[in-house]
Amino acid sequence: MKKVVKFGGSSLANARQFKKVGEIIRADKSRKYVIPSAPGKRNGKDTKVTDLLYQCYDAASTGASYKKILNQIKERYDDIIDGLKLNLNLDHEFATIEENFVKGIGRDYAASRGEYLNGIVMAEYLGFPFIDAAEVIFFDEEGNFLAKETNEELSERLKTVDTAVIPGFYGSVYHNGMVRTFSRGGSDITGSIVARAIHADLYENWTDVSGFLVADPRIVENPAVIETITYKELRELAYMGASVLHEDAIFPVRSEGIPINIRNTNKPEDKGTLIVESTCRKPRFLVTGIAGKKGFCVVNIEKAMMNSEIGFGRKVLAVFEKYGISFEHMPSGVDTMSIVLHQSEFEDYEQSVVAGIHRAVSPDSVELESDLALIAVVGRGMKANRGIAGRLFAALGHARVNVKMIDQGSSELNIIVGVKNEDFETAIRAIYDIFINTEV
Ligand code: ASP
Repeated sequence: MKKVVKFGGSSLANARQFKKVGEIIRADKSRKYVIPSAPGKRNGKDTKVTDLLYQCYDAASTGASYKKILNQIKERYDDIIDGLKLNLNLDHEFATIEENFVKGIGRDYAASRGEYLNGIVMAEYLGFPFIDAAEVIFFDEEGNFLAKETNEELSERLKTVDTAVIPGFYGSVYHNGMVRTFSRGGSDITGSIVARAIHADLYENWTDVSGFLVADPRIVENPAVIETITYKELRELAYMGASVLHEDAIFPVRSEGIPINIRNTNKPEDKGTLIVESTCRKPRFLVTGIAGKKGFCVVNIEKAMMNSEIGFGRKVLAVFEKYGISFEHMPSGVDTMSIVLHQSEFEDYEQSVVAGIHRAVSPDSVELESDLALIAVVGRGMKANRGIAGRLFAALGHARVNVKMIDQGSSELNIIVGVKNEDFETAIRAIYDIFINTEV
């Protein structure tokens, strides 16, 4: 059994957190490959080391004063090293970093040092070999991740060691060595890439929550944890804003059928959420998750006999394409077609788009409706189960929420409802109540 374990910034924010991580790793011999993030926030007012590095670099590379921030960063590591009683000194590393910053080596290099240094500390603490991610994770000149080259190099390299610490978030340009990073939160991606390279049995992603929650805890009090979720369900919920894991972290492990387990460093006894390709396990509830977003608008187009007009939809969509606006949903009726869009993307072009639609298809009317929220009710358990929609809409009716739009994908994996922005929270609570509270 081989596991890859990734620890997020809050799990490594100070020596106390490092000790918890050490205990977790030592508790299971199969936790062989460790991916650390940079030290995160120690409390609500604190700043992540990655953000300090960006600030420090921006100052140093433009000739402004930077020493104070650099010292602040160094202190973060020294505190960890002292707290863990390690015989390690990073002075030499910091001297190199300072030199490179002043030279203006690049923001990606700057940000990557958070993970790099934390990797050195972690390797020393665990007694594992350290592998610099710049030597095994590759990008092209444009900063796109090179999956094939990385997988070849990484799997060869990892054959030579039984355990290793590989810092998250960065790699380098292939055959050029210049450091590049993934987008923010990218250590999740590194973990997934390493799991793929060693054909891990499991990719554990340790963070500060006990997994994905059925609904947003800012809206629903104490929501249940999702025990098992499929990649497809996760994608639907992530699209609607539920975020624990970087979206790009799914692909490498998914292509190898490796499950991801989201775990809580502060509550290692919790099982967390297991993310899988497919499962026979019965879901705990009919609905796996409820997520949503505000800030949508709808363009309602009406034209008598629209249904028999060939090419109508294409001509309408071409207008949106012309202005570079992507649409989110497109429910339609016999003589009506509605296009749901992000309001902020659409506002600047609205009059041009309306005029364009008039020119393209001569509709009877085009009406705009703003300030809508979309809510996705997602669950593999809904499939082939009767009465779900009935319960959903009855619950919304009882809560006095007016449903403006309904969209159910043919996969039966999700139902999307559109409501007014101001009904958003009430609607989510009503849906949670009917599917979760009444089922427990
Ligand atoms: N330290 C990086 C960030 O804050 C990457 C990570 O934590 O995954 O975005």
